[in-house]
Amino acid sequence: MKMLKQIAYNMIRWIDSEAESPKALDGEAVVSTNSRQVNWQRIIPFFAVHLTCLFVFVVGVSPAAIIMCLVMFWVRMFAITAFYHRYFSHRSFKTNRFWQFFFAVLGASAAQRGPLWWASHHRKHHKYSDQEQDLHSPMHGFWWSHMGWFTCEDAFKTDYSVIKDWAKFPELRFINRFDILVPFLFAAGIFLFGEFLAAYYPAMGTNGWQMLIWGFFVSTVLLAHSTFTINSLCHTWGKRRFDTKDDSRNNPILALLTLGEGWHNNHHRFAVSARQGFYWWEIDISYYILKAMSWVGIVRDLNPVPRKVLEEGRANDAK
Ligand SMILES: [Zn+2]
Ligand SMILES: [Zn+2]
Repeated sequence: MKMLKQIAYNMIRWIDSEAESPKALDGEAVVSTNSRQVNWQRIIPFFAVHLTCLFVFVVGVSPAAIIMCLVMFWVRMFAITAFYHRYFSHRSFKTNRFWQFFFAVLGASAAQRGPLWWASHHRKHHKYSDQEQDLHSPMHGFWWSHMGWFTCEDAFKTDYSVIKDWAKFPELRFINRFDILVPFLFAAGIFLFGEFLAAYYPAMGTNGWQMLIWGFFVSTVLLAHSTFTINSLCHTWGKRRFDTKDDSRNNPILALLTLGEGWHNNHHRFAVSARQGFYWWEIDISYYILKAMSWVGIVRDLNPVPRKVLEEGRANDAK
């Protein structure tokens, strides 16, 4: 009976990620919320998104599908790095409620769960970097830090105690709780767009299914693993300019792949700055876009890097 309740509870959480655990006969919740064991059933959607990519061999490919895949990768990468990370996790700049919601939705379309979940875990990562409580530190194993940590009960819940500042917005709580909704609607939109192209621009050689597989599934998997590298590779591979208390690294390759997030050692040194490439030669495309957005009033008050930190970095580079 307890097992059936567990199965039902896992399936309910595919849709309502914050559903309360049912009680077993002994009055205890059917799952332990602190377990760090992989809950295979709860993460079936994660595997399903990966496996669905194999349909590229069925739907074929076209230039339009590849372009869609890349555009969806970069647009959503920006929403994750600039908003899920720099805005929701670190409040490194300001914006109004409309743009806050707009980019929260765009970030949510990346299927990396909701903005409050993402930011709550990330805030804890900074608080406990590379210590026992840091759920995705490579000290628990490389693959665990890359794609293991979010497969356990300890990771599924959103800890609202560290995200009180955003929890007061009901629209954010809604997309956070029903975190499959935005990706589902986004995927449906891409499918319809592909069908529209097939009907009106048949010379492009694409259709709804092809666009769905490339524009949503392939793009989402590439985006997920690129994001994960910041938790895994950026704490193991690269240079350490600053002697931070964690193992964070600066890695120019990962910085290009993730629109600036690869300057992760810089980021751990001064996390509330809107830029992570601290010097002109450290390419940080998210910051350039944020800067351009500030010129037209979409965002404002981008936190700078203090002069003291810049000088400290220069001195360390000269050593
Ligand atoms: Zn880190
Ligand atoms: Zn951070």
